[in-house]
Amino acid sequence: MRLLEERIRRDGIVVDGDVLKVDSFINHQMDVGLFQEMARQWHEDFADAPVNKILTIEASGIGIAAIVAAEFGVPAVFAKKSQSINLTGEVLTAKVTSFTHRRTYDVIVSRRFLGPADHVLIVDDFLANGCAIDGLVEICRQAGATVEGVGIAVEKGFQPGGARLRGEGLRVDSLAIVEAMDPATGTIAFREG
Ligand code: 5GP
Repeated sequence: MRLLEERIRRDGIVVDGDVLKVDSFINHQMDVGLFQEMARQWHEDFADAPVNKILTIEASGIGIAAIVAAEFGVPAVFAKKSQSINLTGEVLTAKVTSFTHRRTYDVIVSRRFLGPADHVLIVDDFLANGCAIDGLVEICRQAGATVEGVGIAVEKGFQPGGARLRGEGLRVDSLAIVEAMDPATGTIAFREG
């Protein structure tokens, strides 16, 4: 998506070899108009899929998911992060290792909000190793829900998550795929097409 790529080039900050900071328009301050454009793109791309729920993970996925849900006219659910939980039948849980914080935590979703009738579009801000998406897919599996696809704002194509998830048969729709970034010059190269 050209608009997102241009914005990343202009306002993204290459922190080091593998972390991109986009806190002026996605992760801290949010450009809601840009989120609306992203949502329109996913709505078009998934027009053939019977999506009836948007699923994301707190915190930075929530803003995007809310706008996507409004575009699709369906509810958004976010998985909550928890240090540790008491397992009861009421919740669906998975373990996720955080890329940015480098620790493992449980993510939970109430069974009340995800079930076998759901056709889910998972959305998130970044795709790196794919752990966050693995956790959300696992939660959908436990719920008996169908994963229609995954919408990612920024995929780092030089990290393994995207290729692996596509290899597993998931429909992954990344609006910008960063092929390489150089912290010395701040240069960011995108995958074409
Ligand atoms: P993964 O689970 O795919 O390894 O990492 C994805 C999660 O880590 C996303 O939910 C995102 O919050 C965070 N993340 C991964 N890479 C980056 C990055 O380069 N910049 C930012 N801001 N967040 C990232």
